[in-house]
Amino acid sequence: MTHSHARLRTLCVALCLGLASQAAAAADPVLVIHGGAGLERKDVTPQDEAAIRAALTLALEKGHAALAAGKPALDAVTAAITVLEDDPLFNAGKGAVFTHDGKNELDASIMDGATLRAGAVANVHHVKNPILLARAVMEHSPHVMLVGDGAEVFAKEQGIELVDPGYFRTERRWKQLQEALKEDAAGGQAMRDPEATTKHFGTVGAVALDAQGHLAAGTSTGGMTDKRYGRVGDSPIIGAGTYANGQCAVSGTGWGEFYIRVAAAHEICARMAYLHETPAQAGEAVIIKQIPALGGDGGAIILASDGSAALPFNTEGMARGWIGSDGVPHIALYSGDPLPLPDAAKAP
Ligand code: ASP
Repeated sequence: MTHSHARLRTLCVALCLGLASQAAAAADPVLVIHGGAGLERKDVTPQDEAAIRAALTLALEKGHAALAAGKPALDAVTAAITVLEDDPLFNAGKGAVFTHDGKNELDASIMDGATLRAGAVANVHHVKNPILLARAVMEHSPHVMLVGDGAEVFAKEQGIELVDPGYFRTERRWKQLQEALKEDAAGGQAMRDPEATTKHFGTVGAVALDAQGHLAAGTSTGGMTDKRYGRVGDSPIIGAGTYANGQCAVSGTGWGEFYIRVAAAHEICARMAYLHETPAQAGEAVIIKQIPALGGDGGAIILASDGSAALPFNTEGMARGWIGSDGVPHIALYSGDPLPLPDAAKAP
């Protein structure tokens, strides 16, 4: 890059940031989270259900505490996702699903809507909280995405907590892999039917609006059970599984190949920007129509800068919830479960 290019770039960054901060107005903070689409009643015991609800509540409360303290949306997203990564019930961090050859390979990404900065990691296998490493990539490297061993070397340099790969193993996920391997033997991995694939979801994600009116989004996952060594899904792909800008923040969960093919998270934000759709309308178009029409499934959480939100999904369940400035958590698991939505800010 030449010197004049560099000066031009500095000017552009200053202008863009100026525009972003002009656009943002004081807001009532909101945090929306998901604990994965593909939840099926037949697989969830009453004890599991209580534990899922408790974990979502804790994640919401941790994120809300950050927002209530005046911290940025990024902090709320990181706090909520870290709680869910540490809980073995979810397919992220501890409790991640297994690859075909019996390993855990973790993916995560985060994006700051105020600056369009983003960070992502894929195929890490020693990083306790991949969302913290994604954030470190965003904040302490000139890059957006680091993968595999290179990501782990960077984690070490950054003082991010590393664990033995055995830390991620849970019996529940190991059994799911054994079932999937049996299905492979019976029918072939490439064409496994979506019904069988769906039950392995459980990714976690969060989107937040802070008191300054800035948005952020993040997603963390173990991917899909029985995935090939080296497979990367949508969750760490900016624009596919995660996206945030000045008007919109999205985290997706579902059959990642389809989310990548439709650039789902960015597509939702683009529809809101260019077609002036609400989160519910954009979610309906992408999650309820476009992805299933291609043969995929899943859900998303969508938050707009006016505080309005949508949590669409096309599976039987999606663990989900939100918390506003009153600090009352709202949680739902299955389709049809009542869930009041945050109100859009009243126009001044
Ligand atoms: N989207 C994730 C992936 O494909 C899986 C999930 O959401 O559960 O890796």
